[in-house]
Amino acid sequence: MAKALEYSGRGETILVTDDFAVQNTAIQLGIKVMPAGQRKIKDVLLWEKQCIGCKRRFPQGDECPVCGSPMKKRRKGAVKSG
Ligand SMILES: [Zn+2]
Repeated sequence: MAKALEYSGRGETILVTDDFAVQNTAIQLGIKVMPAGQRKIKDVLLWEKQCIGCKRRFPQGDECPVCGSPMKKRRKGAVKSG
């Protein structure tokens, strides 16, 4: 038990499984668990706003807080969930 905790405490070990028994065991050991089924969720798109005036980018908003120009929605990228 002590040894398992030592290992799991080192870093970001994430266990991917749909087996609930394994998930429970892992959680008790302090290991992060991700259900394998979650990987089927389609890619999460990331959006940001870009000012058409000064071209600054912001995470949200319709109007640039710097120059007051409208901001356009712009795709930042996608997070692969699988
Ligand atoms: Zn601006």
